[in-house]
Amino acid sequence: MNPYAAPRARLEHDALAGTPWRTGKLVRIGRETELPDRCVVCSAPANGYRIKRRLYWAPAAWTWTAPFVPVVVFVAATFLANRALMLLVWPTAIVLYVTHLFVRKPFRLAVGLCPRHRTIRRALLAMSVICIAVMVLALREWHPDYGWIAGTGSRFREALPEHPG
Ligand SMILES: [Zn+2]
Repeated sequence: MNPYAAPRARLEHDALAGTPWRTGKLVRIGRETELPDRCVVCSAPANGYRIKRRLYWAPAAWTWTAPFVPVVVFVAATFLANRALMLLVWPTAIVLYVTHLFVRKPFRLAVGLCPRHRTIRRALLAMSVICIAVMVLALREWHPDYGWIAGTGSRFREALPEHPG
């Protein structure tokens, strides 16, 4: 057994935590990762301008079961014609919702945009067109501590280091 295996893995994990990486068309970010001060579409200087989004991660098992619990209680109460059980439907839903606020983990996503793409974005927003590269930025393959962003420009990605993993 290699006694250094765990600490080294830990070290690599910490070194990766604060840096954005790319793998193919995806960019990997940690929960606290700062993206470079460049346009996410064309890689021109963003001069500190950021579009901020707050996204949340929750375990898949929780996301796919919690919303159905009140429904199951409701169906059971109806089936059994049980008034006491029926009175538990709303409290169950509220308790699950409050628990959800603690279970989920926030991701602060702040992407840079150059003056040209800012103008394009404003023009498209004015026309209520939602489909622009920046607006389709999405987190894929979530983990508790990092996620993969899709929808960045190729020039933006080329300047990032390739993920070693
Ligand atoms: Zn740009």
